[in-house]
Amino acid sequence: MGTGGQEAREKRSVMKLLETENITKTYRLGQTEIRALQGVSLSIEAGEFVAIMGPSGSGKSTLMHLLGFLDTPDGGAIRLLGQDISRLKDPQYAFLRNRVVGYVFQQFNLMARSSAEENVSLPLLYSDNPLGEAERARHMLEQVGLKERVRHRPNELSGGQQQRVAIARALVNQPLMILADEPTGNLDSSSGQEIMAIFKTLHAQGMTVVLVTHDENIGKAAERVVRMHDGKIISDERKQAFQAREVPLPENILTGGTQNVSYNFEEFREHFRQASRMIWTNKLRSFLSILGVMIGVACVITMLALGRGARESITEQLARLGSNLLSVRPGSVKVHGVSQEAGAATRLSFDDVRAIRETVPEVKRIAPQVTGQGQVVYGNKNWSTVVNGVTPEYAVMKNQEPMMGRFFTEEENQSRRRVALLGQTVAKELFGEENPIGKTFKINRINFQVIGLLPSLGARGWHDQDDLVLIPLMTAMRRVQGKDYLDQVEVEIKSADQIEAAQREITALIIRRHRLTPERYDSFNIRNFADIQNAMTSTTKTFSALLGSVAAISLLVGGIGIMNIMLVSVKERTREIGLRKAIGATARDILMQFLVEAVAITFLGGIVGILLAMLASWLIAAMAGWKVVISLSSLFLAFIFSAAVGIVFGLWPAQQAARLDPIHALRYE
Ligand code: ADP
Repeated sequence: MGTGGQEAREKRSVMKLLETENITKTYRLGQTEIRALQGVSLSIEAGEFVAIMGPSGSGKSTLMHLLGFLDTPDGGAIRLLGQDISRLKDPQYAFLRNRVVGYVFQQFNLMARSSAEENVSLPLLYSDNPLGEAERARHMLEQVGLKERVRHRPNELSGGQQQRVAIARALVNQPLMILADEPTGNLDSSSGQEIMAIFKTLHAQGMTVVLVTHDENIGKAAERVVRMHDGKIISDERKQAFQAREVPLPENILTGGTQNVSYNFEEFREHFRQASRMIWTNKLRSFLSILGVMIGVACVITMLALGRGARESITEQLARLGSNLLSVRPGSVKVHGVSQEAGAATRLSFDDVRAIRETVPEVKRIAPQVTGQGQVVYGNKNWSTVVNGVTPEYAVMKNQEPMMGRFFTEEENQSRRRVALLGQTVAKELFGEENPIGKTFKINRINFQVIGLLPSLGARGWHDQDDLVLIPLMTAMRRVQGKDYLDQVEVEIKSADQIEAAQREITALIIRRHRLTPERYDSFNIRNFADIQNAMTSTTKTFSALLGSVAAISLLVGGIGIMNIMLVSVKERTREIGLRKAIGATARDILMQFLVEAVAITFLGGIVGILLAMLASWLIAAMAGWKVVISLSSLFLAFIFSAAVGIVFGLWPAQQAARLDPIHALRYE
């Protein structure tokens, strides 16, 4: 090192380290004013060992808080290395607390759930100190004689050991000075002596030490004793001539904090670990607080799964039912019911069918049908089902070729044969495992012979599409139901792009044939497959809408639950927040910590919600027969939702925490 450098360094070190000039501090308690400091001027040189003494209430702690940048004076100035620091912003104060002073409290103020090593490492979290963290913390613990206690928690250590952990924590960031407020006040005398020995060693190594005590014996250890009374310094004596020492200055000590230490992964990891620990130690409370979010997320996912399932099942159904279908029905048929004004309905006849077949060129196939309820009996088995009268073309048009046996022929239809094809459900109900083909059973007390078994169509919503019997149309009209009109005519159009034209032509044809006046146009009804699709989605849509509103309400209520629990958490941990601030956490660090915690809780809610949604989807699929498909994107959305709830509702409590003043927070009971 060059002489010039040496000189400059020495010059700096001789400078006053920390200096107060005529500072005042007044507390207001309602009407009364307590003038804790009434013009205190004190200068601390680098390398000094100062004891501040005086009776209780004389303002020692108040002064220490000001020296430790934990509080600001009402009047006067505080200078650090000659620079006025009484009007700094939060991140700069945080930097000074983190790097310039190491504060040792009477009550140790250790984090109860963290090990000695974690406690010592804490200030490193809030600094950009490049030194290896775990090693550094362990090294500091070794220095205070706690090498064997690295993993112990505060409640597993004696008072003296706890205070030694606190000293290691104060030293870990290599501060310019140690401030200790009654460090032996909570200790027995032998532990107290051990602690004092540590301070003496530190001082011998060049550390500046300022401690508050009312114990004259301890005061004797110091080189300089400052006595206070009623907020004033009444004496200030040095026992020996003071030798200025060289104090190594950390880089950027005065510019530091102006450039922010950015929120980094280390900090996030630590916050996440704290959050997990807090969730785990408060299991029941955490579980109750995630209920709302859990239900909300479950609803969102189930809703999306239902929508997607409905879409997929419609595509499947259309593929199975055959597309390009138009359905002509009498009356303004509602989605499921029959028109209420039966008298006004247009009755479709075979002549209508013939006319459509002959005059509408786009028609490929046509299937007239009647529908009725029927009581079917075989042996002692009895079942109520849907009996449809159809023509042979129906089989091809609707993909209903029998999987066993055969369909009936046009000849059988015309001669009104009593033959029937059974849907899977009916076959199972009447015949069980028996082969039904060739057997005779009764429909409304009329004997029928089973000639075929229909393929399974599965369920559509709550409706079992396999619960039906098909018989020849003429048999149904003349022998079973006694009808002379048709209930439905399904028309297959040659290609999809002709559907609209065909629909128009058929409409015109029926209006003409039945001489319908405009007010009776709704006495029949043609639906194309877009309508049918709508009818099919409407149920799931209603259900989805319901789930959607439950989701919205749950997320809101859940969010308020989270906010509540976070406010409780902030209150409970006020002292911890005070400590974190005292060792260098900025308001933003605290804000982030509580936000991470809120989001961790809501994420947990999200995960449990996803599991719940899987269960709900499975139940819906099993019970209602709806197709339910959980997509990856909906899971992603659920995570976004839960994170958003955490951020939105965690922000306010986190701000409450961030705004806390370190001294008030540390004193909070
Ligand atoms: P010491 O540390 O010497 O015992 P303090 O600095 O703690 O003294 O207190 C000085 C005076 O200020 C006392 O009268 C005390 O009651 C008062 N005081 C300290 N802190 C507060 C506070 N936060 N609000 C109101 N009064 C306070």
